[in-house]
Amino acid sequence: MKYALVTGGSRGIGRAVCIKLARMGYPVLINYRSRQEAAMEVKDLIEAEGGKAELLPFDVASQSETEQAIEQWGNNHPDDYIAVLVNNAGIRKDTMMVFMQDEDWQQVLDTTLNGFFYLTRRLLKEMLTHRGGRIINMASLSGIKGLPGQVNYSAAKAALIGATKALAQEVAGRKITVNAVAPGFIATDMTQDLDEATLKNMIPAKRFGTPEEVAALVGFLASDEAAYITGQAISINGGLYT
Ligand code: NAP
Repeated sequence: MKYALVTGGSRGIGRAVCIKLARMGYPVLINYRSRQEAAMEVKDLIEAEGGKAELLPFDVASQSETEQAIEQWGNNHPDDYIAVLVNNAGIRKDTMMVFMQDEDWQQVLDTTLNGFFYLTRRLLKEMLTHRGGRIINMASLSGIKGLPGQVNYSAAKAALIGATKALAQEVAGRKITVNAVAPGFIATDMTQDLDEATLKNMIPAKRFGTPEEVAALVGFLASDEAAYITGQAISINGGLYT
């Protein structure tokens, strides 16, 4: 059976992506780091709709945790493979660069960029063997435009876009597509501390986006219909100039 794995699937955009992919018929692996109740809620929701979901907790920033979780899942699922990977887990540690601590830089890079590397490299082997797969990386407007106060986050997301474009060319011949999605401001826990009333005036659509709108784009990129789209960074930002 072909599974979909969504990192950071317990909340926000990842949660909406899990629900979308389950509705498309994929059994979904919900990854998270710490908040099990939130992940359980997503699993229950999917199962209530007749879908299939499993929890697969690990810290994407840890190579050993990632390897161990995937190894164990593979041992329990000898006839299955992960055909859709959504590298969505991400964190913000915003501050002006002059005040930025080593750990602010390191943790953001570790989660977004190293997380992408450890997990994608591991799952690519099976995708190459099965000659098919979808890899969708959650980038950001910050990775395209750069945003002040987010030198770490912008660097991590820009690097993720570069990696997306390079990997796409490596694996296109094996029917694996690799794309990035670059959301602008989306209403989730991550943006809860932002001044939405002021910020939305900068956005031509005059509102923050919803996780479901991002999930719809991810769902399309995961579908068979998107087989000829690869190596792209697709913005979803209500018209914010990038
Ligand atoms: P969110 O609501 O803060 O949720 C983050 C999710 O990532 C949670 O499920 C969290 O799990 C998980 N996570 C964080 N660190 C992890 C780690 N080391 N290992 C495994 N899971 C981890 O964030 P969101 O707004 O949905 O953002 C999702 C993605 O979209 C991120 O990559 C973010 O950078 C990107 N993005 C968001 C926006 C926006 O406006 N919201 C805009 C552009 C891009 P726990 O709950 O267990 O910690």
